Amino acid sequence: MSFYAVFGHPIAHSRSPQIHRLFAQQEGRDLVYQAILAPLDDFPGAVRSFLAAGGVGANVTVPFKAQAFAMADQCTTRAQAAHAVNTLFWHEGTLLGDNTDGVGLIRDITQLQGMDLRGKRILLLGAGGAAQGVLTPLWAQHPKSLTVANRTLHNAKVLQDAFPSIDLRISTLGDLDDDYDVVINATSGSLQGIDLPVATSVLGRAEFVYDMMYAPQLTPFLQAARQAGCLKVADGLGMLVAQAAASYALWHGFEPDVAMVVDAVRANMEQA
Ligand code: NDP
Repeated sequence: MSFYAVFGHPIAHSRSPQIHRLFAQQEGRDLVYQAILAPLDDFPGAVRSFLAAGGVGANVTVPFKAQAFAMADQCTTRAQAAHAVNTLFWHEGTLLGDNTDGVGLIRDITQLQGMDLRGKRILLLGAGGAAQGVLTPLWAQHPKSLTVANRTLHNAKVLQDAFPSIDLRISTLGDLDDDYDVVINATSGSLQGIDLPVATSVLGRAEFVYDMMYAPQLTPFLQAARQAGCLKVADGLGMLVAQAAASYALWHGFEPDVAMVVDAVRANMEQA
């Protein structure tokens, strides 16, 4: 029997074991997938022990994605573009690193939410790991413009410099006053329960507002967008399930039904 896992710190809250079990049920596969709390000072050691015990594939979450990138023997183009790894695959004696966060976001927005990003003015809030991982896939959708707004302008500038092939505009959160069609929150503001200093008119004029954070109820950011008049909002549960589905497809060669699992996990979240 081969083993799969998600590594993080903290990790108890992770929905990944449930999601991968639901995928395995769809396929009719026996699967062992565990959540592993890796020590902050020895992520590589935790991965090595896992592989020695028969581990084959692992998801990697906060705060280890950069370390997983450094540890992989070989990285896919999309992991190189993101400078981060969220999926490890022990394959024919090589530790392969992939990043499925970007493809997860794009699949959720374009397929599950039905939003075509081509020609759209996209505003991405945040310049941390999640923003970095989705910049290249967002740009590949051929938007009219792509702007990153961040609390600390310097960190947005670092992203701008790291992605010279993207015509990236940058701003602070409070200085935004242009119109945007699609606003994506990739800050950890919702996680902290704070209101971002983004003008409500920016949210109200958007066609679609998305929060990478997910919760049983609307996140504070999505509540603010609704109150400002935005008619279409979505949280990041679809992204989470779609990025997991891309990892599952890499490991097992089976494409799970993402929408069915989003519904099951959301129902479970609402009952809890
Ligand atoms: P990071 O810690 O790497 O980055 C955090 C970002 O949030 C930075 O841009 C930071 O700005 C900003 N920020 C933090 N606190 C505040 C605040 N009080 N006010 C305004 N901005 C703030 O986190 P990640 O990029 O890894 O994750 C960001 C979010 O994305 C999280 O909520 C995470 O749960 C979610 N996520 C969801 C996924 C999914 O599958 N749905 C996948 C990955 C992430 P500054 O530079 O100024 O510090």
